[in-house]
Amino acid sequence: MKIYNTLSGRKEEFQPLEEGKVKMYVCGPTVYNLIHIGNARPMILFDTVRRYMEYKGYEVNYVSNFTDVDDKIIKKAVEEGVDASVISERYIAECKKDMEAMNVKPATVHPKATEEIGGMLEMINTLIEKGHAYRAEDGTVYFRTRSFKGYGKLSHKNLDDLQGGNRSLLVTGEDQKEDPLDFVLWKPKKDGEPYWESPWCQGRPGWHIECSVMSKKYLGEEIDIHAGGEDLVFPHHENEIAQSEAANEKPFARYWMHNAFLNINNRKMSKSQGNFFTVRDVSEKYDLQVLRFFMLSAHYRSPLNFSEELMEAAGNGYDRIVNGVSNLNYLLENSKSDKISDEEQRLLKEAAAYTAKFEEAMEDDFNTADALSAIFELVKFANSHAGAEGSREFLTGLKEEIKELSGICGLIVEKEQELLDEDIEALIKERQEARKARNFGRADEIRNELLTKGIILEDTREGVKWKRV
Ligand code: AMP
Ligand code: ZN
Repeated sequence: MKIYNTLSGRKEEFQPLEEGKVKMYVCGPTVYNLIHIGNARPMILFDTVRRYMEYKGYEVNYVSNFTDVDDKIIKKAVEEGVDASVISERYIAECKKDMEAMNVKPATVHPKATEEIGGMLEMINTLIEKGHAYRAEDGTVYFRTRSFKGYGKLSHKNLDDLQGGNRSLLVTGEDQKEDPLDFVLWKPKKDGEPYWESPWCQGRPGWHIECSVMSKKYLGEEIDIHAGGEDLVFPHHENEIAQSEAANEKPFARYWMHNAFLNINNRKMSKSQGNFFTVRDVSEKYDLQVLRFFMLSAHYRSPLNFSEELMEAAGNGYDRIVNGVSNLNYLLENSKSDKISDEEQRLLKEAAAYTAKFEEAMEDDFNTADALSAIFELVKFANSHAGAEGSREFLTGLKEEIKELSGICGLIVEKEQELLDEDIEALIKERQEARKARNFGRADEIRNELLTKGIILEDTREGVKWKRV
């Protein structure tokens, strides 16, 4: 499996630290608003990476944080006259709803910055002890950037160029820095802001330190993959490397993966620029499975422009797979043959070539566009070889292969069959008979089965009534 590593600037063969296991950290959103579809790009992409790794048999420990203390969260809390935690908890809950709606699996752990302050104090302390950080007069703690020899290795920046560029960025209090390149680990509180006690001042952590600390706590000092959008390469990930490697004296992450931007009118979609669509907005117009298909239709390192035309095309592509599966289901329901023929066996072997093609695409730095093409070819193959005479085993084989590959992409391509009215009536009749025979177990089972399909039963004096929810 080859992964493009931002650190080396080339594709590398993936070698996990520990056989059969993957430790992966993905920087998550700052929670002060509903997430937009730019934020959804890394979520969908890295969820797909994770699903593929799991399909290959790896046990994936996937950690993704919520940044729940930040200027923007505090500003919103002040505007609404509530505690910062009210804002962050609200948007964490909303973000989780969106993730579920996009079929993004929950991370193994979703740590929150505010719950990891102890670990941050500890790491900052270690950095001070090792001479990599210092306290300025006002209580701010800075990382001494030049003390870390590898600084710039991820973003391929040269320290002296950075120094020139950074001078103009001086803001109040920064004149206390030893060097303009130094960045904040801990900063003093301002009036009305949430704060924590620390040996340096009452205050709160800088943004970068949280990921170094959470990654260490939940995955260990060395991890396999660290990921996020390309805007995080510098300074966020560069600073994370400096903090983690200076504190732990071990290499931090082996592979750094970065997705390119989701754009709108060829400009980065971003909350601060106001040019964004939330996942919620998009869900009103499109099935979020179509959004997922759209995201995977381009390579993750290429910019992707959001447009109605591309979403239409994604909708057609997704429907093609769904229709292929529903066609197989129809044939399966009407199939008269249990025995697979020799010819069908040969065809199933031929169909396995599409799985091989899919894997080849995914193993070439997660080329999801080509992987989706392999699924299309498989659907086309199924459409042309599956007919009314098909055996159940053959039809099921084709269907399962399409479902498995689509599932790796997080695409749900088999819609729950809706129960027809007569099926519901028949089940209700069976339930009545079970109750008469005092077989309450079966009666409850039927009630629950109907409930999971959205049918509610009501026992009334005139008999059983039902409705769809
Ligand atoms: P933020 O909440 O801005 O810290 O972003 C959370 C994640 O979304 C980070 O990995 C960002 O790099 C990523 N991200 C934000 N905007 C975009 C965009 N327009 N396209 C792709 N990724 C983005
Ligand atoms: Zn991070």
